[in-house]
Amino acid sequence: MPRDYISQPPAAFQRRPHLIRDDEWIRAFLQKARVAHIASAVDNQPFLNPTTFWFEEQNHQIVFHSNLAGRIRSNIESNPKVSLEASELGKLLPSNVALEFSLQFRSVSVFGTARIITDPSAARRLLYGLIGKYFPTMTAGREYREITDKELRATSVYAIQIESWTGKENWAERADQSDDWPALDQKWFE
Ligand SMILES: Cc1cc2nc3c(=O)[nH]c(=O)nc-3n(C[C@H](O)[C@H](O)[C@H](O)COP(=O)(O)OP(=O)(O)OC[C@H]3O[C@@H](n4cnc5c(N)ncnc54)[C@H](O)[C@@H]3O)c2cc1C
Repeated sequence: MPRDYISQPPAAFQRRPHLIRDDEWIRAFLQKARVAHIASAVDNQPFLNPTTFWFEEQNHQIVFHSNLAGRIRSNIESNPKVSLEASELGKLLPSNVALEFSLQFRSVSVFGTARIITDPSAARRLLYGLIGKYFPTMTAGREYREITDKELRATSVYAIQIESWTGKENWAERADQSDDWPALDQKWFE
């Protein structure tokens, strides 16, 4: 019997449990991952938004921003439930059987509820945190101008309260090979 995923929470069941990583690994990964894809859905239409993001560990939330108006903001206003994916790729892993071709990857999926930050001082703090993740040695008011009220009014700042997450890593040196087919030439591994 296939599993019933419909009535289960989104992080239930992992098909390959040995690749699943713990909370500490997930936190470290989210601190350094550079790009996320945030999924929202309204009226039966999924929408993926690629974006920079900041994992604010202290408040267990993910911060990102967008235009003042646009599809992601409209979606979140209608349905704040979101999912986020961030991943890192390594090398491609060839095999001598079709279903074992693979690649090295690290990936995290997050499930949560997004809210729009309307309080100006909170929005400012989160935007500085986002910039600080990518440019940790730059300071507002020194290398770049402090965020003005006008700039703040021109952007939407979001915080995703994290409800669950999963981490998965496949960083094997080689994909599985079969003895039932001639071994691959060394050139495919270079
Ligand atoms: C790696 C990466 C990082 C980014 N980081 C940021 C960020 O930190 N802040 C930020 O504001 N924007 C960022 N962007 C741009 C972001 O993906 C969106 O384009 C932007 O947030 C506008 O989203 P919106 O929902 O307001 O789209 P809208 O302006 O409403 O767009 C209308 C339609 O255009 C299409 N569209 C929107 N975005 C994209 C896209 N990226 N690629 C292809 N089609 C698209 C969609 O079909 C969408 O429905 C980033 C993009 C990339 C690829």
